[in-house]
Amino acid sequence: MVLRFAPSPTGPLHIGGVRTALYNYLLARKHGGRFILRIEDTDQTRYVPGAEAYIIEALAWCGITFDEGPHVGGPAAPYRQSERKNIYAQYAHELVERGWAYYAFDTEEELEEMRRRFEAAGMVAPQYNAITRSYMKNSLTLPPEEVRERLQSQPYVIRFLIPRHREVRFYDKIRGWVSFHSKELDDKVLLKSDGMPTYHLANVVDDHLMQVTHVIRGEEWLPSTPLHVLLYEAFGWEMPEFAHLPLLLRPDGGGKLSKRDGDQLGFPVFPLQWKDPFTGEVASGYREKGFLPEGVANYVALLGWHPSGDKEIFTMDELIQEFSLERVSKAGARFDYEKARWVNQQHLRHKEPRVLLPLIEPFWRDRSLPPADDLTKEKMVQLARERAATLPEVVEVIVSFYLRPALPLHDKGIEKLQPPVVENLPAWIEQLPSAWEKSALEQWAKSFAKALGMGIGKVLPSLRLILTGQEAGPSLYEIMEVLGQQEVNARLEGFLAVHGVRKRV
Ligand code: GLU
Repeated sequence: MVLRFAPSPTGPLHIGGVRTALYNYLLARKHGGRFILRIEDTDQTRYVPGAEAYIIEALAWCGITFDEGPHVGGPAAPYRQSERKNIYAQYAHELVERGWAYYAFDTEEELEEMRRRFEAAGMVAPQYNAITRSYMKNSLTLPPEEVRERLQSQPYVIRFLIPRHREVRFYDKIRGWVSFHSKELDDKVLLKSDGMPTYHLANVVDDHLMQVTHVIRGEEWLPSTPLHVLLYEAFGWEMPEFAHLPLLLRPDGGGKLSKRDGDQLGFPVFPLQWKDPFTGEVASGYREKGFLPEGVANYVALLGWHPSGDKEIFTMDELIQEFSLERVSKAGARFDYEKARWVNQQHLRHKEPRVLLPLIEPFWRDRSLPPADDLTKEKMVQLARERAATLPEVVEVIVSFYLRPALPLHDKGIEKLQPPVVENLPAWIEQLPSAWEKSALEQWAKSFAKALGMGIGKVLPSLRLILTGQEAGPSLYEIMEVLGQQEVNARLEGFLAVHGVRKRV
């Protein structure tokens, strides 16, 4: 089994492109096949500097690896179509010889004129096809000597000769049988006048030369597939299997999620941040938002694929085991950012704090928190990740308890304090345990509540407000444990000093 991901470097990779790459990758790994990265850069007018490097970096970040590609080499090198340009022309000429293609000499003006003429005659969106081609300047209409002469003296393209009355059928592994009538197809250019192939020719020739067995790509390529099927027939090559993935839709279902949506929908549509080399505009990425690559890959896998059971959280290895095209639906998949966050959160919870710490470090650094040793930091991360969906949110939770609350407490906070807790606090500070660990601290708080004749549920919120200035957060005993005895003491005493309750000795 040989699969490929064949992006055009026309900009950053959209999250839908990540999904296409991921599904190809999962199948290649599941079946022990090869996975190729091929850069389809024959259209130099759309080339964007940095896009190829971005694509490679983004996929590597998501955990998607290739066996062959421009960055790793391989037996079918080169893997950039611009570096393979000498390969394609011979194939186009071969099709002319076999009667499956022809030379066309029409200028831009003549093509425009043809469109105008047929539109005036009532044709909708006239194309170069079985009807119009007989009115144009090509090797089907001109005498052979003139064709020979024009080939020497003027620019020409090679067009595919779409057969007139043909039903083109192919089996799509997601959609089942798909059929097109050849009258819906136009005589697409295969080789341009500058000698460069178009997408269709280069794509099919390379899939053949690279022995690709499965073409899995976005639904937007479905209309190109009948031409590709005919190209395989014309060359007499074995056809790969096809699967066209459902569209990725905007959260409201109102159309395709596109690159242009950028950050306008309130979430990134790119895996990594992208700075447009022409405009300098920056579009945000999941990496910089503090998502884990495992979370992104997992969520992206769920966009159109339905696991067989209820389980939704998968490691990459589990995805490789579980994934199958049979469970990919043909209906468009709506992007749901909240779900993406939830999936990421599940991965955060499963990651060792020791492993999370270096990932959190860049976000931590921005917040100028007081220094802490690694063990304390790990404990804080462990505590905070329960209440966070992304890495910077872990830091936010840590900030909420690790920074001393500003005193005096704001009025609302004061109103919420239970007076008996405040009044009796001085005595209970004295009784804080010397064995500073959470079970002892829990014991302490419970005894405190008991002595006041109050439920622990009434006492804890007051203690939390006093210690952290917050009304909610991770387990207070664990917070106290990581803050350490000295800091807890200082916060309690500080509170009493500012709020005018004198310590009873
Ligand atoms: N170069 C095309 C793209 O940018 C490849 C489509 C295909 O996989 O055949 O998506």
